[in-house]
Amino acid sequence: MVHFLLGIRAKLESLTNLQPQGGCNDPNFTYLFKLKCEGCGELTEKEIGVRLSLGNGKGAPHLVRKCKFCEREGSVTMMADRGRPLTQTGLYSPLMMFNCKGYEPVDFVFSGGWKVESVAGTSFDNVDLSKGEFSGYDERGEFPVMISKLHATFTVVTPGRPGYRNFVRW
Ligand SMILES: [Zn+2]
Repeated sequence: MVHFLLGIRAKLESLTNLQPQGGCNDPNFTYLFKLKCEGCGELTEKEIGVRLSLGNGKGAPHLVRKCKFCEREGSVTMMADRGRPLTQTGLYSPLMMFNCKGYEPVDFVFSGGWKVESVAGTSFDNVDLSKGEFSGYDERGEFPVMISKLHATFTVVTPGRPGYRNFVRW
């Protein structure tokens, strides 16, 4: 069994604490990515969306899906409490852990529903990152703010192996 940890990186100009609008365990924040079938290697045509509110809270998968090509069934289960807001340019911050059976998650897509704070403490809500960047102006601090160079990656982590615990805490 492997888990996939989604980490994000960005250039933050006069901004900090980039995270889903309701925090890293936001039940309604949708994670969009493609799934690669481990049986036949096919990629889903479009991104699929999963969010914590799709779960029943008892550990059942948040998504169950049959591969269109080889008909193998796979699932995606989200694992909360691993995320941290992105505070600094250049560092990866863990956002969400996924337990995927039969699939590998690839190509995470940034969309809407983010929040971020300026270094002067002003909140920017429902930030849309689907264009790959965000720019605004902090009225209180009187300076421009910007998010750019967004990057996301899924890292394989194997439960029980040395380093796993440290790794998920990043
Ligand atoms: Zn398949």
